[in-house]
Amino acid sequence: MRFDILTLFPDMFDAVTRYGITRRAIERGLAQLHCHQLRDYAHDAYKTIDDRPYGGGPGMVMMAGPLTEAVQDIRSQQQSAGLGPAPVVLMSPSGQPINQALVDRIATQPCWTIICGRYEGVDQRFIDQQVDELWSLGDFVLSGGEIAAMAVVDAAIRRLPGALGDEQSAIQESFSVQGPAAGLLDWPHYTRPEVFNGAAVPDVLLSGHHERIADWRRKAALEATSRHRPDLLHKPKSQ
Ligand code: SAH
Repeated sequence: MRFDILTLFPDMFDAVTRYGITRRAIERGLAQLHCHQLRDYAHDAYKTIDDRPYGGGPGMVMMAGPLTEAVQDIRSQQQSAGLGPAPVVLMSPSGQPINQALVDRIATQPCWTIICGRYEGVDQRFIDQQVDELWSLGDFVLSGGEIAAMAVVDAAIRRLPGALGDEQSAIQESFSVQGPAAGLLDWPHYTRPEVFNGAAVPDVLLSGHHERIADWRRKAALEATSRHRPDLLHKPKSQ
């Protein structure tokens, strides 16, 4: 799958392309990340892409012109690669909160264009004319859309078949819709040593008895969910 990211800070995406699971998936061709510098679409020598808000008030607003031209250019690059039309997404605190169901939907599409806002945000006419979806990392305000975009790109890439070393680990994670602990948080994990600071690993995990271990894990996942996120237990499965 392919992500085209429009940003003022393309280098920030090194965090995804240079480390861990996402780096490996990109190197192996499972995912492609194309970062586009919004300033390349500015109309003046100063590479201006923002201006003061009509109506007054603090901060600057990203202009519709450079954003629109960038999106059109990205669209034609996607078309030349035999992809698209890819949905255009703006990262925004006004957007749909990102959750595992959204991540799973993202991972099934071949291509997305993601816009990272900065300053006070983006001219509404660009949103009305070009943007298909708004996604939010949560009910708080970030300085820019990049960290939110990286979060969603990372989460989607690890859902791609072959991205994880062990296929099972994507199924048996928190929020997964399939598997033994579907819809629950993850169960607790332990590794060596058997006793640490006086605390022993639960006996059942050393028993080698697969059914009893699976049973313990299901119960432990349920317990963790009711302790940390009781809201998940009362949520319809499809959300
Ligand atoms: N004035 C805006 C905040 C702008 S923050 C407001 O009050 O809603 C600048 C940019 O950061 C936004 O345009 C958006 O792209 C990004 N951003 C901030 N918080 C975000 C969040 N929770 N999720 C996704 N993107 C966010």
